[in-house]
Amino acid sequence: MYRDTEPVVDVARNFYGLTLIWPYLSATGVVFWFKNGICSNLRTLNDPTTRVTKKRFPTLGVLLGVLTFVVECSTIAGLVQIDGFPPWRELLVALIVFVALFGSLDFLLQIALPGMGLASIPRAALIVGIAYGFMRVIHVPFPFAFLSIAAVWALVQIGCASLWGRFLPFRWVTLLPAAVFAFRVFFFITPASPAPPAPPLHAEPAPGPSFLVVVLDTVRADHTSTYGYARATTPALDLLAVRGTRFERAYSTASWTMPAHGSLFTGLLPEQHGAHREHMALRHDIPTLADLLAVNGYETAAFSASPQVSAGTGLTRGFQHVEEFWPTFLLREILTGYRISLRLWPRDRDKGGAKLVARAIGWLEERDSSRPYFMFVNLFEAHAPYQAAPVQSRRAFVPTGSSLRRLENVGTLGFLAQMHGDPFPRRFDQLLTDLLDGAISAADSYLSQLIDAAGDDVVLIVLSDHGDLIGEHNLHGHGLELWEPLIRIPMVMAGPGIPSGAVVEKPVSIVDVMPTVLGMADLPANTLPGTDLRDVIAGDRAKDRVLYAQQFRTPAPIALGWERHHSRATIARLQARKTAAIVETWKRVIAENGTDLTFDLVADPAELHPIPTADGELPLQLPRPAAGRQSGHVLDPGTRAALRALGYIP
Ligand SMILES: [Zn+2]
Repeated sequence: MYRDTEPVVDVARNFYGLTLIWPYLSATGVVFWFKNGICSNLRTLNDPTTRVTKKRFPTLGVLLGVLTFVVECSTIAGLVQIDGFPPWRELLVALIVFVALFGSLDFLLQIALPGMGLASIPRAALIVGIAYGFMRVIHVPFPFAFLSIAAVWALVQIGCASLWGRFLPFRWVTLLPAAVFAFRVFFFITPASPAPPAPPLHAEPAPGPSFLVVVLDTVRADHTSTYGYARATTPALDLLAVRGTRFERAYSTASWTMPAHGSLFTGLLPEQHGAHREHMALRHDIPTLADLLAVNGYETAAFSASPQVSAGTGLTRGFQHVEEFWPTFLLREILTGYRISLRLWPRDRDKGGAKLVARAIGWLEERDSSRPYFMFVNLFEAHAPYQAAPVQSRRAFVPTGSSLRRLENVGTLGFLAQMHGDPFPRRFDQLLTDLLDGAISAADSYLSQLIDAAGDDVVLIVLSDHGDLIGEHNLHGHGLELWEPLIRIPMVMAGPGIPSGAVVEKPVSIVDVMPTVLGMADLPANTLPGTDLRDVIAGDRAKDRVLYAQQFRTPAPIALGWERHHSRATIARLQARKTAAIVETWKRVIAENGTDLTFDLVADPAELHPIPTADGELPLQLPRPAAGRQSGHVLDPGTRAALRALGYIP
């Protein structure tokens, strides 16, 4: 059944797909479980003395029940990919597994524990206990194991009960699938979080230039042709670098989206702005770049395809116009099921970029041009899963003849390595790299449309928030470490007053963007720690400046089952607070588990050979969590679900 050379996705681990549907599955399951207990309905089927009354055939309930069940199975089937099977066989396998595992278990228990109403309680407890043990084996974190298994069981029952609805005396049973399906739709058509009130337009238009800041999410500098990569992954960024100035050694302040964008929008380190793992939202009392520009006569707009750059995390504060874009393929897969979605729309698996760019360009064309604007765009295309890219980009760098299934499986294995720390088969390293490069080229193609639409009079700043590991240091993904591929970002600036074709070798940081924009808008920025990039370009800059990147504590590796494949020491390091300091070509990283490593980035760019240094050579301390606010922020359910789907939180 499996061919040796083909990628094989770990069947059990692919239950992670359930993470996408946990929030409402759990709610439905628990309500269903405790309020009604369908077990008692099914018991009547097994009891020959019960008189089964015929009810009107509940067509809608049955249809929605079947639809819901097929969608759930499709989601599972898509994640349980078995090479050599046509999709319908996978669907069948998933269906059989579901029914066999949970449905028959319940029937057996009903036979073993018949009669009396209370019997459903020990039966329920037994099912949940067995299922819970099963979920623990495949490392689904508590308490979701309990909730989701109850929900999964309930769902199977709903599916079966709907099919058998005509025989059951309780018509309400058939309404529940309708409720599940309605909730599924409702959950994803409602905005993730209520937006804060937008700042009003200032009466007087500002005299300064317009700004367009584009973040190419998850693009590592060394995989862009702009920074010398052998493949032409970023032709649009290459052209922009010729038109403007490229910063050879630009650093982020973190290795994941939320803290990096926090620094971009406030000019501060994560410990100062609060948008990090121990706080999860921007502090309310810090003005953002958009706030300051809005009250000084700019029109501000944000178009974001990252669920982290949303009202829910406070990162869109200060923008008068905010549009959030779910990756369209993800939404489709959530609503129709993974396998069905892939069959119906195999070519188009865009992560929100096409719609986002069209809307952003529309906004530029329609706006009142008498006033300058500050537009922020986050393009999510390069983020894992890499294979989920428009077909042209997906195939841009893969060998001809690679099947869609092969790309799906390798991409999924890469995503599992990111989510759960699973080992990634080394023989697919090249193909995963090919897919990553394709995803980066997708982001670049959308960037080119934005650059064309913005024109020459706008100050353009294009950068990334962090990179992604593809096997370096035995890791995939981002958000847990501060290695160079993670925090070294592309950064290019062009427009009025910016030299053409210049390359700046001095290290710069993402915190420098805010003072630069404020400086060009003629607004004060002297309280910020960053440096106006125009001063850096002019060579007028403090010598031996120290740049910092920070990482806060996270329970994610343990909660997502990393201990299966990583040592205790590795996990302790991944979970620990840590700080990196960069001075010129030296870098030191310390972590609260005692790690203290210094690297010479010229002699050892891969950071494999730490060198002994005297303590204090590079000034460094561990990040401090924002006082009294460590656990103060509660994410709204939409933002939480989106972050969990991408593996950022357990
Ligand atoms: Zn990001």
